[in-house]
Amino acid sequence: MKLLVTGGAGFIGSAVIRHIISNTQDEVVNLDKLTYAGNLESLTEVSSNERYAFEQVDICNRAELDRVLAQHQPDAIMHLAAESHVDRSIDGPADFIETNIVGTYTLLEATRQYWQTMSADRCENFRFHHISTDEVYGDLPHPNDNSEGERNFPSPRVGEGPGERGQSLPLFTEQTPYAPSSPYSASKASSDHLVRAWQRTYGLPVLVTNCSNNYGPYHFPEKLIPLVILNALEGKPLPVYGKGDQIRDWLFVEDHARALYKVVKEGTPGETYNIGGHNEKQNIEVVHTICDILQELRPQERSYRNLITNVKDRPGHDMRYAIDASKIQKELGWAPEETFETGIRKTVQWYLNNLDWCQRVQDGSYQRERLGAGA
Ligand code: NAD
Repeated sequence: MKLLVTGGAGFIGSAVIRHIISNTQDEVVNLDKLTYAGNLESLTEVSSNERYAFEQVDICNRAELDRVLAQHQPDAIMHLAAESHVDRSIDGPADFIETNIVGTYTLLEATRQYWQTMSADRCENFRFHHISTDEVYGDLPHPNDNSEGERNFPSPRVGEGPGERGQSLPLFTEQTPYAPSSPYSASKASSDHLVRAWQRTYGLPVLVTNCSNNYGPYHFPEKLIPLVILNALEGKPLPVYGKGDQIRDWLFVEDHARALYKVVKEGTPGETYNIGGHNEKQNIEVVHTICDILQELRPQERSYRNLITNVKDRPGHDMRYAIDASKIQKELGWAPEETFETGIRKTVQWYLNNLDWCQRVQDGSYQRERLGAGA
């Protein structure tokens, strides 16, 4: 099978490509514009493989998309290219509208034309897999929140949710209504709607996945986990938004890559699969865990926890995300292999071993300054 992966030089896309080249016999074409978030260095371990090819292309450029599809003749497309940082979407939504909405529309149209000219058997087996986020669902009730809330969530699944806290709270299922809060999540929600409309109207065989927060190697240092690791090592403040009690459901990026490959190979066209790690953590717990692992691996006199600094909260900040991943588990047999404890330890160790990568990807463009506070 030949897979065209858009956004393959990014955090998750590069994990997907490393997984496919290292563990399967499939071929990959990586189509990426190489924005500040795209780094071909994340693919060094697979880029000399003859089953890998790279095309530097913007998904908004229809002529170039037509050329790449005609030239490489992929059997499936995994669409990850996007602007992905909520804080940047608050400072400047235009790029998010352009890439996430117009870019997805342009890719859908190029794909539709390509798909309609395929032979009957290839046409039937073709897949367009759209990779999206759980942030399209908005936020869920938080254990500290006693208000009833205005939305009707699916009934809580007893024993799940933040079980560690002895409560049973709702989770996002594939039926949860969309209610995005940020320009980023609204642009991703729009792209999800476009993808489903191209299935319903034109019959394009699409798959949609909505995943929780990822963490792991090669994550651009604007996101919470790499930012905290790198600031801590430099003795800089560790910014925690508001009280740090926002809850995210963390998934190790290599578990996500395995899930995405399973969906594109075995998923049923027209279906949506939620992907999550069953690892609900408050942001402050995540920061504490990183500080404690660093203390063990790079001991210093004063605990790294002393660097924690509460800063103004993100405008419109969602309080809690949590995924019910039982559908993909039941139907496709996928389950995460890493717990948060094993995955975060691997991640901290990876950053300690790859500080030169971190330095190079930040060069010139970004110095870990606060983004998205000015709404
Ligand atoms: P990322 O920002 O690390 O990478 C995005 C990649 O897309 C980069 O390589 C960038 O160069 C490329 N790109 C951006 N605009 C482009 C354009 N116009 N044309 C071609 N390429 C372009 O993002 P990520 O964290 O790897 O996320 C990948 C996908 O997964 C996104 O669609 C995101 O919404 C989704 N997702 C991310 C998470 C997460 O926790 N990071 C969770 C769920 C879903």
